[in-house]
Amino acid sequence: MTDRKAQLAANLAHVEERIASSCAAAGRKREEVTLIVVTKTYPASDVRILHDLGVRHVAENRDQDAAPKAAACADLSLTWHFVGQLQTNKVRSVTSYADVVQSVDRAKLVTALSAAAERGERGLGCLIQVALDAESGERGERGGVAPDGVEELAAAIGAAPGLRLDGLMTVAPLAGEYAGRQRAAFDRLMEISSRLRAGHPAANMVSAGMSGDLEDAVAAGATHVRVGTAVLGVRPRLG
Ligand SMILES: *Cc1c(COP(=O)(O)O)cnc(C)c1O
Repeated sequence: MTDRKAQLAANLAHVEERIASSCAAAGRKREEVTLIVVTKTYPASDVRILHDLGVRHVAENRDQDAAPKAAACADLSLTWHFVGQLQTNKVRSVTSYADVVQSVDRAKLVTALSAAAERGERGLGCLIQVALDAESGERGERGGVAPDGVEELAAAIGAAPGLRLDGLMTVAPLAGEYAGRQRAAFDRLMEISSRLRAGHPAANMVSAGMSGDLEDAVAAGATHVRVGTAVLGVRPRLG
């Protein structure tokens, strides 16, 4: 085993242990939580090693980095998640490799994603990114729609050809009433998810929790955690 492979294997084992013990503490089955490894800023060779080690879900946040990486890994059976703020001019590229876009936060993006997804053969999964710190009718600083805008966006995705409404995503806010209160933030996301599922029963994905707060997300009921640093190491640059 190369040094890098051994390092990633050890990190993955540690993250796996954290997820498993959080599931046990919450009385949840381990299979209820899917690990998505956020590979942003790391090379395709790391994605290949992760696949070798059993990872099947990876996430990226910038199309410029993700597109060549996904192309270099096209032979691997991986589900690619896009988790970054998305400009409509990047939509066509992103939909060529992404299976799920987790950062849907405005109607204009829904229209663009639908048009691009219709050109391809696969349906595109969409998560609505919720900004728990955004005021009514606004978007958050790191993207995301305010909680009171979720229903309208859900209806738009539900009606859009080529798109599938899979659920919700959030990033714990750095400001506002939920700053430093990850568990409360994720509980709030679960409430919004329950309301959403009343009208859209299949939209049952809840993507929450990163390297620093995955325990809180699993305790609250997240179905997917997005872990970068704890698997790959501290990123060489901002991303
Ligand atoms: C980078 C990123 C993550 C992973 O963050 P870590 O703290 O490195 O685990 C998760 N979600 C999103 C949206 C990200 O951009």
